[in-house]
Amino acid sequence: MSCSSLVFRLRDGGSLSSVQTHVSVLGLRHRTALVFCTSAFQESAGIDDVLVVGGGIAGASTGLAMHKLGLKVRVLEQSPSLRISGAALGVWTNGWRALEFLEVADNLREKFTPLSGFEFYSAKDDKCLLNIDFKTVNNHVELRGVDRRMLLESLTNALPADILLYDSHVVKVHRKRGCYPQAELKDGSLLQAKVIVGCDGIGSVVAKNLGLKEAHYAGYMGIRGVAMFPEGYTLKSVLSQSIGNGVRMGRFPLDSSRVYWFLVFNHPPDKVRDPSLVKEEALRLIQGWPEQLVEIVKRSPVESLSRAAISDRWMWPWSLWKLHQCGVTVAGDAMHPVTPNLAQGGCTAMEDAVLLARILSNAFNKLKERRLSVNEEMEQIDHALGGYVAQRQKRMLGIAVKANLIGKVFQTEGDFFASVRNALLPRVIRADAFVTSTLYDVRGLV
Ligand SMILES: Cc1cc2nc3c(=O)[nH]c(=O)nc-3n(C[C@H](O)[C@H](O)[C@H](O)COP(=O)(O)OP(=O)(O)OC[C@H]3O[C@@H](n4cnc5c(N)ncnc54)[C@H](O)[C@@H]3O)c2cc1C
Repeated sequence: MSCSSLVFRLRDGGSLSSVQTHVSVLGLRHRTALVFCTSAFQESAGIDDVLVVGGGIAGASTGLAMHKLGLKVRVLEQSPSLRISGAALGVWTNGWRALEFLEVADNLREKFTPLSGFEFYSAKDDKCLLNIDFKTVNNHVELRGVDRRMLLESLTNALPADILLYDSHVVKVHRKRGCYPQAELKDGSLLQAKVIVGCDGIGSVVAKNLGLKEAHYAGYMGIRGVAMFPEGYTLKSVLSQSIGNGVRMGRFPLDSSRVYWFLVFNHPPDKVRDPSLVKEEALRLIQGWPEQLVEIVKRSPVESLSRAAISDRWMWPWSLWKLHQCGVTVAGDAMHPVTPNLAQGGCTAMEDAVLLARILSNAFNKLKERRLSVNEEMEQIDHALGGYVAQRQKRMLGIAVKANLIGKVFQTEGDFFASVRNALLPRVIRADAFVTSTLYDVRGLV
């Protein structure tokens, strides 16, 4: 073995915290990152407070919330530019409250139609099974479909340019008790911060580093798209779902000319990359369904279509310790992937962002008043992260379980079971099953 080169990377104020070596073993070239703490008082001036891995809804909101509260933050996104998966999403009251905290809600509200309730139909005969007006549940309920690109642009445009770093693919996180954690990028460089937050989605590298299990496949796939009606449409401003035999289709207007829709269907998990095949599959799945639904799919440009496997992971109380270790934690789908049956994944990701920023801002303000060793500082930070994780566990377990059960009911297969479900639906489904969890207000919590 020979050392072909030895590179000392002194980042952010020159603290000697990492050494990177290129080691040649039997002629093969490897790049190895060695991480250690050199002294009890690592130089913390210049080190970022927070590194966020991933610039999706969770990452962009977390970056913005931290920046608003005066923390020194950087967001590392692997894509070369804004990455959008899924054309739109439903944003409920809790999401709007988080967006208000982030000061981007008003601009988005102006663009998207408010929805007044739910309707469920039987796909076979287009009979209305259940109809719920939000006002009968609570006057504060707010649900709007929002274009994902516009949501992400609103969040990222509110960030100073040097905070969001594209082309920054994190491959590994290094953490060690009593040291600041480090993110290792694909090009081998190491970035250090007092806290690393993995907002890198369902296949999160950071979640794996913390030892979290992979999300569990729920048994169904989701296709999403946006239909164009430049001349306007006749759809009501409600979230409508038509339920069939292991297949259901939901739709709601986004604005005066666009309708968002989703199709959820029982299927083994697989990938179809060609969007025109996804469109064919969608049309096949709703063959013989009301013409209005077929028309919606037909009017959707293939670029608006996406297809994803639906999975979740429940946050059990006994797994809490895993979710924050040595200054590393997770948020959004990296922390709590949920099935989309309550349309809460993105909304609760924004809640995570606001809560975590407020908790860390309080913790860092307290730390400023004291001169502590890195070890002592990291203990305080981990204590703060423990508070964040505990609050999210209490909130998210119920949502994940409820969403999963609702999915099981709606995805029932077999003519007999589907008719029993349709007959029972108006008696067993209560409006508050969908609405109560969406009234959460993260702004007042710390
Ligand atoms: C069919 C369907 C319908 C849905 N409908 C709704 C809805 O109506 N309402 C709602 O609130 N939610 C909905 N959701 C859930 C919502 O889409 C997700 O919860 C939300 O997008 C999660 O955001 P995120 O930022 O955590 O993850 P992602 O959106 O997956 O973003 C992760 C980001 O991290 C980046 N990244 C990944 N790995 C790395 C790495 N190693 N280094 C650097 N960057 C990395 C990715 O490029 C990406 O930009 C739905 C989900 C599905 C599948």
